[in-house]
Amino acid sequence: MLKETFFLDQIPDLPPKEVRLAVLGYPIKHSISPQLHGSALAVLAENEPAFHNWNYRKIEVPPEDLHTALPKLAKLGFHGLNLTIPHKVEVLPMLSSIDQQAKVMGAVNTLSWESNGWKGYNTDGIGLSRAIKQASDRAISEFDILVLGAGGAARAAVAQCLFEKCQNLAIFNRSLDRAKELCRALKENDFDQNLIVLESFSNPFSHSGNPTLIINATSLGLRQDDPSPIDLSQFSGTPFVYDMVYNPPVTNLLRQAAEMEYPWANGLGMLVGQAARSLEIWTGREVSTDAMSRAAEESIGE
Ligand code: NDP
Repeated sequence: MLKETFFLDQIPDLPPKEVRLAVLGYPIKHSISPQLHGSALAVLAENEPAFHNWNYRKIEVPPEDLHTALPKLAKLGFHGLNLTIPHKVEVLPMLSSIDQQAKVMGAVNTLSWESNGWKGYNTDGIGLSRAIKQASDRAISEFDILVLGAGGAARAAVAQCLFEKCQNLAIFNRSLDRAKELCRALKENDFDQNLIVLESFSNPFSHSGNPTLIINATSLGLRQDDPSPIDLSQFSGTPFVYDMVYNPPVTNLLRQAAEMEYPWANGLGMLVGQAARSLEIWTGREVSTDAMSRAAEESIGE
């Protein structure tokens, strides 16, 4: 069942006693979320056998069907949903409530059924934060941070850095206007930190003395032959380089980081971290990322 794709109008009869979870997206065929959640649920079931009855599926939902999918899945007894491309923003008006941090991020990737409707959360930011802590052994609050990109993932990253009170924060994006708009939207939330937009690529933190983190939140790197979004040799200092892309596992940005002997990590830890946080919201249990990480590595290697 983990690898099977379901379709909204062809969901078969489901076992009566199960607790139902799913990821919705379009396309969804390549999602490995069922493998991640399946492995973590199996670990939870070792101590609490009731978790054997929790099942996580992937369901293909085209954008025009999302507004009918949500009530339909509620009626079918689904307890929690993840949302991926292209639903994370479009779903907002369809929800009965939205977590405060998700509101600032302007997108949700996790829904939990409450008695009166779906509540939306965004776990991408916390997933990123946990991944960076694990990979660098430093909290976001310790870093000066340069975020590359100004799309949905960049917004979650910048908001998370602000929530966690990072030192200094800058955004650099191909389209300057989009970066300025992101900066303006986040500044409406009265954060204390200094948030700046770079008009050209440089190290704005060269005199601060804090450790530096560069986060690639552009989609450059998803294709094997994509160029790096920046030339690291033009950045003074020794940054930790985090690329949200995890497949391919080593992008051209990360290759250059490795050549320059900078510490780096790919986006697999973020994928696992956001999944673990979603499962924590649905189960009320602490979820270890070990089993999820193993499942992710195995699934990507297949
Ligand atoms: P969006 O489409 O919202 O944003 C894409 C961003 O990439 C924009 O800033 C865009 O710049 C930039 N970009 C695209 N093409 C180029 C290019 N040729 N040169 C320079 N910049 C470019 O995507 P998302 O924010 O949703 O996703 C961004 C990345 O994050 C993706 O790779 C996605 O897979 C990854 N991601 C990883 C997650 C994880 O768990 N590891 C979770 C979520 C996302 P412009 O504004 O100029 O168009």
